[in-house]
Amino acid sequence: MTERLYYKDSSLLSFDAEIIDSYRVDNKHQTLLNRSAFYPTSGGQLFDRGTINSVEIENVIETDSGDVAHVSTTEIGKKGESVKGEVDKTRRWDNRQKHTAQHIISQVFIRQSDLETVSVHLGENYGAIELATDEVSDSQLTDIEKTVNELIRDNLKVEILFADHQELGKFPLRKIPERKGLIRIIKIGEFDYSACGGTHCDSLREIVLIKFIGAEKVRKNILIKFLAGRQALEDYSQKLIITNSIANRLTCHVDKIEENITKLHNENKTRRKQITALSNELLPVMAGKLTERLFEINNLKIIFETVSLVETKMLGQLASLAAKKISGLAILICRDKIVFAAANDKFDAREISTTFSEKFDLRGGGNSSLATYGGVDNSKVELYKKYVTEILSNN
Ligand SMILES: [Zn+2]
Repeated sequence: MTERLYYKDSSLLSFDAEIIDSYRVDNKHQTLLNRSAFYPTSGGQLFDRGTINSVEIENVIETDSGDVAHVSTTEIGKKGESVKGEVDKTRRWDNRQKHTAQHIISQVFIRQSDLETVSVHLGENYGAIELATDEVSDSQLTDIEKTVNELIRDNLKVEILFADHQELGKFPLRKIPERKGLIRIIKIGEFDYSACGGTHCDSLREIVLIKFIGAEKVRKNILIKFLAGRQALEDYSQKLIITNSIANRLTCHVDKIEENITKLHNENKTRRKQITALSNELLPVMAGKLTERLFEINNLKIIFETVSLVETKMLGQLASLAAKKISGLAILICRDKIVFAAANDKFDAREISTTFSEKFDLRGGGNSSLATYGGVDNSKVELYKKYVTEILSNN
């Protein structure tokens, strides 16, 4: 069985090994080694990336027999050959920081809030724990985040112990594992003991920083998302770029962003109201202008025009006004919208609008006097007009 080098040393990134088996599964090569520092996906932690004999490792999995299989597109070598493995340092560190952070976060939730962790997700971009509760307050989160970061400052040592399953009663484990035989225990000072097979930091200060980034409901529980170490710092850098850029555009200091956005939002609301009021006065005038462009097919008066409106929601109103004025059919286009409006007693707009929307794959609908569709292609306006003319001529 593969000797798992990370069991005893999570800092080990380079190693020599021998191929004990090599085979193909679904167009990929799987290589088993007598020893490996590569972590296979398990226990909520993602596999290590890296290379073996310069061949890129795309996945690392546990086989049914308990070996570690290294998955690659190119064959690494044949059984009995010696190889050199290199584990990707950044991803290993991300996993170590995230995983160690998870242990202390879970323990602090028990101690400060009496909340058990029911599942752990250590994803590519963030870590998360699922807590057996339907509510966690912001102040609880703030307090716990403070405590976990104080633990990092206090720099407790992280040790790896091995104990037989029968001896586990000696350790204050958060959860007794179901697995029998020799059990690996991660001991963080006297603060936390967990049975765990993952890769962790050697001391808490190596986590550098823990930041909670969200709490959301999943099923009946709460999922607490967090960032640790490099990923927390990178997130901070990105957020800083974003907030600085917003502050620059608003020409204000970062701490005035919220105030300025509220001001802009309110101004926008007022402007919209003013636009609506002005448009209501303008619409009858526009409708009057449109009547000058009418044409007739089989005694039906028609307007087919592209118009410019600040808000497309006024398009229906304008078309209805125009249709009424000519006692006929008004078809108006504004940006990606098209409306069909008919003077009630003169024409039923349903058939033409449905046929048209199906022909040009537009989404929307309406009734006999007004139908609205989205998804208009403005380069096809002439084609639209030709199609409408054709249909109405054949009626
Ligand atoms: Zn762990």
